[in-house]
Amino acid sequence: MADPVTITTILGNLKVAIDIAKAIRESDVSIERAELKLRLAEMIGALADAKLEVIEVQELLAEKDKQLSELEQAFQSKDALVKHYDAYYEVGPNGGAVGEPLCAHCWQVRHRKYHLASEPRDNFVRVCISCGHKYSSRHVPKLTAEASAGDA
Ligand SMILES: [Zn+2]
Repeated sequence: MADPVTITTILGNLKVAIDIAKAIRESDVSIERAELKLRLAEMIGALADAKLEVIEVQELLAEKDKQLSELEQAFQSKDALVKHYDAYYEVGPNGGAVGEPLCAHCWQVRHRKYHLASEPRDNFVRVCISCGHKYSSRHVPKLTAEASAGDA
């Protein structure tokens, strides 16, 4: 992968093009046709490089926009979960925890919702499918009925 393009690189190429244009303008009227063509070719090259670099920056900005909107989405859903014992849960109609337990570590650190899976070799352990954090089954129950808001 190429080095990430920087604004400095783009400005450098634009400066080259501008300097060539200035040199042509300020040069003697008797500038050789061949010399003029060579200078124009250099200028076109510098402008073409700058154009490609601007496209790269545009793609980079689009990528950043995408990351920003993902973060905004995570931030917006921040209040959509409630802690109950050791895990986080969706909020029920009365403000209490309900449904499948979600990994508290992943939620608190990365604002990502990951369900806990049963540990095949140990019925008393539930494990996060993403970070592998282990929870005691008793402290991360599946809540078929909404727990009241004040519980745990
Ligand atoms: Zn996790």
